Amino acid sequence: MDLFPLIAEPVFRVALDAPLRRLFDYLAPADTDPTQIRPGFRVRVPFGKQSIVGVVADIVVTSSVPANRLKRAHAVLDSESALDPVTLALVRWAADYYHHPIGEAFAAALPSALRAGAPLRATETRWHLLADAAAAMAQTPRLGPKQRALLAILQAQESIGEAELAADGTGYRDTLRGLSARGWVSQFQRELPPLAAALATVAQGHVLTAAQTLAVDDIRAHLGEFSPHLLHGVTGSGKTEVYLRVIEAVLARNEQALVLVPEIALTPQAIERFQARFSVPLAVLHSGMSDTERLAMWRAARSGAAPVIIGTRSAIFVPLARPGILIVDEEHDSSYKQQEGFRYSARDLALRRAQQHGIPVILGSATPALESLHQANIGRYRRISLPERTGAAGAPKLSLVDLRVHEERHGMATPSVAAITRHLNDGNQVLLYINRRGYAPTLFCPGCRWSAPCKACDARMTVHLKHHQLVCHHCGAQQPVPYACPLCATEVRPVGQGTERIEDGLDELFPRIPVVRIDRDTIHTRGQIEAALARVHSKEARLLVGTQMLTKGHDFPDVTLVVILNADQGLFGTDFRAAERLAQSIVQVAGRAGRADKPGEVLIQTACPDHPLLQRLLESGYTGFADAALAERAAAGWPPFSHLAVLRAEAATREQALLFLTEARDQTPLSDRGQVRLLGPAPAVMERRAGRFRAQLLVECAQRAPLHQLLARWLPLVEALPSARRVRWTLDVDPLEVS
Ligand code: ADP
Ligand code: ZN
Ligand code: ZN
Repeated sequence: MDLFPLIAEPVFRVALDAPLRRLFDYLAPADTDPTQIRPGFRVRVPFGKQSIVGVVADIVVTSSVPANRLKRAHAVLDSESALDPVTLALVRWAADYYHHPIGEAFAAALPSALRAGAPLRATETRWHLLADAAAAMAQTPRLGPKQRALLAILQAQESIGEAELAADGTGYRDTLRGLSARGWVSQFQRELPPLAAALATVAQGHVLTAAQTLAVDDIRAHLGEFSPHLLHGVTGSGKTEVYLRVIEAVLARNEQALVLVPEIALTPQAIERFQARFSVPLAVLHSGMSDTERLAMWRAARSGAAPVIIGTRSAIFVPLARPGILIVDEEHDSSYKQQEGFRYSARDLALRRAQQHGIPVILGSATPALESLHQANIGRYRRISLPERTGAAGAPKLSLVDLRVHEERHGMATPSVAAITRHLNDGNQVLLYINRRGYAPTLFCPGCRWSAPCKACDARMTVHLKHHQLVCHHCGAQQPVPYACPLCATEVRPVGQGTERIEDGLDELFPRIPVVRIDRDTIHTRGQIEAALARVHSKEARLLVGTQMLTKGHDFPDVTLVVILNADQGLFGTDFRAAERLAQSIVQVAGRAGRADKPGEVLIQTACPDHPLLQRLLESGYTGFADAALAERAAAGWPPFSHLAVLRAEAATREQALLFLTEARDQTPLSDRGQVRLLGPAPAVMERRAGRFRAQLLVECAQRAPLHQLLARWLPLVEALPSARRVRWTLDVDPLEVS
């Protein structure tokens, strides 16, 4: 296929952070030996009128650009690859698999400081005395005491670094500047030696339960080889203890452990447990850090200075000097899938990465994704179960509260209020879960049935009474809450419950009991979540109200009652994963009850107590639910029994979005059509969001390979469609949602 002429020197194919599915060809800078440049090196190249940093992906001998028009890179920034070979290959593989522009994939993988040109390794500024300084000094009798002191130091040693000088005293900068102005000293950059990884002295852990021992032994037996483990342990069964023991063995082998967690800023407890256990430097990577902090952590992982790295989704691309194990905690969590731009799944990539490194990977959860359970069922993952809690408490007791027969006050049915009273009287804490923030989901006019629609979305605005605002949770639009209906002037009223309204209701029902509310309206920073959790742990607050945010890994030892206020929202979801999501959140929030040695009770309020999903969950727990749900997926041909990609479009009109998708559908190569099923195009369930019309085309295939073959052939044709320019379109491989 090489129709292009050979070029006399190597051509570097560079990934640039641009939304284009291609690489860009450059020659080496004139003053650089091209044979020294390897894949993974960063280069600064001319691009349009700019000069930008890219990553060398390939080195070839031909180019589609004529030799006389090939540009030279401005500079080569590295003398070694930024990423280890496996991580480098992983980024390329992911760009391929998710059919995403490779430059954007590299941009997601590298800290922004590196994309701006920062050095790969940490360096410090050092000063040394110039050769002819001594003679000059002898002829300069009138030196100040500070200058004299500094010169003495510099004479005594070869060079001195910024950190040592700073530790030594004040004002050295001015003194140095003075000496350097006289031409006596000069500065240079030197690489900092990686921190010596302190030996992992390990604080005493718990005496393992029998199930934990089996788990730890099984995983430890596979260190040094690829081995995927699904650690399915009920909440409170001591999964973290298993991770810690396995990591202990990894550190003893002088290897590194990379631990992925869902949302680090909100789970300070998890980090503290790791920190408390190992006396080694812990690198933490999450979105709430400054670029400088992030770079430092990334370097520590890459150099091997940090033996344990804990990070959120994007940490899956952090290079490791001595990879030993990958751990994905709460592997079912949807935050592992990036939902915009480069839509990768960090959980899925962890498997690929572990395989390439030849190391074990642990997927841990109390409510594993159906995909992961399926992999265990067919023998691809080793299944490890921790079926019981470690403490004396035992599993919490789940029961339903029938909203059809019991009266509700402030969203709480009579039996729920009675139970809350009982648990509070016993001196315990109570958690109320509702997956809706704000005061009420609807503002309703009884006169004409108006219900405060968002002007830009097919959705209602949520009432936020504290700020007297109607807020659209989809586009962020806000307006003051009206007192009367804008159409018929009837007095309007909020209908339904949100966290804010429950908080008010609790204040009224239990006026002397302090309440903590945890949702995105009350918690914005790590400090705020810590303050809220502290009020709970000190037992100052005894009632907790919150959304999903409450379900993520927090430990509330004195919460003995959990009330799930509205399970029904999830029962009739349109997405094929709705039931799975609901079961996961019920089990996760239920798991907050009775974690220490106090037994827990869980009440689930519902108007559909006979619903098979709820029945199944009550009778046979998450595993029973999952078996039934997998059987349904198999019958309907949904993942994991098929593979999906969804082409989404949004445009100013419905017609533009649908026209593009129809044309795209017509472009699917004939040869591939027999293998895949095309569903749509169809408008999205919420068709209009932020004023744009949304539609989608679903591509489904029983096998993975033919799906990807089709995508690879099809996307260039889609890209070339004239109608593509009138829409915003995206491709999502293995989408989490298809509604
Ligand atoms: P999970 O991550 O499975 O929800 P955790 O690891 O948080 O469970 O453990 C739950 C609680 O049990 C923690 O307080 C932990 O310190 C404790 N724990 C863990 N393993 C043991 C053990 N073998 N014996 C006693 N307590 C344990
Ligand atoms: Zn009205
Ligand atoms: Zn809106």
